[in-house]
Amino acid sequence: MDEFMQAALAEARQGLAEGGIPIGSVIVHQGRIIGRGHNRRIQQGSPILHGEMDAFENAGRQPARVYRESVLYTTLSPCSMCSGAILLYGIPRIVVGENRTFMGEEELLRSRGVRVEVLQDESCITLMRDFIAARPDLWNEDIGV
Ligand SMILES: [Zn+2]
Repeated sequence: MDEFMQAALAEARQGLAEGGIPIGSVIVHQGRIIGRGHNRRIQQGSPILHGEMDAFENAGRQPARVYRESVLYTTLSPCSMCSGAILLYGIPRIVVGENRTFMGEEELLRSRGVRVEVLQDESCITLMRDFIAARPDLWNEDIGV
C-alpha cells in the first residue's frame, strides 16, 4: 500500500475512533495531499459528509486545473454521491482500497473516462467488514438502505 492509501486508511481509523463510519479519503495533487477527510455523518449529523466529500471540503476551493491533475484515494468504492463529485470536478483517476464490502459507481466512473484502480486491500476490507458486522444499522443508514 502506498503512502496515500495509508493516509486514507489512517483517516478511516480516526473516524472509527470518533465513533463514526470507518471510511477515509485523500486528494493528491502533484504528489502532495491537498485534502483529507473521513466519513463524519455520525459525528456531524451530516447526510453528505462521506469520506470523499469530507476530503473535497477540506481541500477547499480549487481551480478546475488542479482537480484535473489530481488523484483521489478512498478506502471504499465511492457511492453515487461521491462519484458525482468526482465527475463534476473532473478527477481523472481514483484509487480504491476495496469494493468487496460495497460496490459503488465504478462502472459509471469508467464509462465517463475515469481511471479506477482497485487494490482489494485486506486492511480496508477487514476494517469495513468488522464495522458492518458490529453496526449494520449505521452502515445501512450511510448507504440509504
Ligand atoms: Zn459516498
